[in-house]
Amino acid sequence: MKEAMLYEKQADNRVHCHLCAHGCAIADGKRGVCQVRENRDGTLYTLVYGRTIAQHVDPIEKKPLLHFYPGTSSYSIATPGCNFRCQWCQNADISQMVRERHLIMGEKASPEEIVAAAQRAGCRSIAYTYTEPTVFFEYTYDTARLAREAGLANVYVTNGYMTTEMLETLHPHLDAANVDLKAFRDETYHKYAGARLQPVLDSLKAMKRLGVWVEVTTLVVPGINDDAAELEDAARFVAEELGVETPWHISRFFPAYEMTGVPPTPVATLQRAHQIGLAAGLHYVYVGNVANEANTLCHACGQLLIRRAGFWVLENRVRPDGSCPNCKTPVAGVGVGQG
Ligand code: SF4
Repeated sequence: MKEAMLYEKQADNRVHCHLCAHGCAIADGKRGVCQVRENRDGTLYTLVYGRTIAQHVDPIEKKPLLHFYPGTSSYSIATPGCNFRCQWCQNADISQMVRERHLIMGEKASPEEIVAAAQRAGCRSIAYTYTEPTVFFEYTYDTARLAREAGLANVYVTNGYMTTEMLETLHPHLDAANVDLKAFRDETYHKYAGARLQPVLDSLKAMKRLGVWVEVTTLVVPGINDDAAELEDAARFVAEELGVETPWHISRFFPAYEMTGVPPTPVATLQRAHQIGLAAGLHYVYVGNVANEANTLCHACGQLLIRRAGFWVLENRVRPDGSCPNCKTPVAGVGVGQG
């Protein structure tokens, strides 16, 4: 057990956690909404530091990050716990483990061991993913600092519910993030995830301001967030507030967790969302979780730049300086020309 960062001690042994937008005020002996931060005698502890429930070598494309060192591997870790309760969660067995089964399982692994394992596996980066990395922030922070010293990049796959204070602490070590924009209606966040929309929008803008490479994912769930007007609002936000170079991933829903009765997203809905993204001016819109090739095209001349099959890069034609081989227009991203 390790003392938490980013909290403040208050009267009567209470603490106020500043890590995420829930802003929990926690009485002595209690835990926050995420269930993995506990107040013991007026000190807040993280219960998941150094305890991984998953460690895998993944293609970076699986995060998904398609404009960040394409074709490289990312050493991916998670601990149990989440600050959301999404009814469609694809990883509920580990994200909701603490809340539903009152268990904190996992293998002990120090930050040093994680970095060494990533190096042995030939990874370009470490991804904090599968569950919500914000709730294992201290573990990611220590690992990310060591990773940077070892020449590895750091990636968050996140719901974006962290505070700006957390981002300002982490960003010197954070290179990229894929942020879920789960809906563009506050009531949807409230009803289906136990959260609010505005803090996610604030985090996205803060990441851009802090120089983190950002890609956005929207899982399109039939009847929940597939309305054209809502998708237009989301696309406009990405284009106008984050920039047209920001990749937007439209992801197909499959029945999971508490939403096994909802059918998979029709392909026509995904295609319509794809068109909505392009109409908003976005340069890179991808449809994910479908059997297609998520190729990257030059937004200026249409040249095929990166050809993929599933999560695998088959061909990367981007010039080493990160530009299109045909018209020389820069391709947005980090390390895109290394493939
Ligand atoms: S991380 Fe968020 S949910 Fe967890 S205790 Fe802190 S404010 Fe609450």
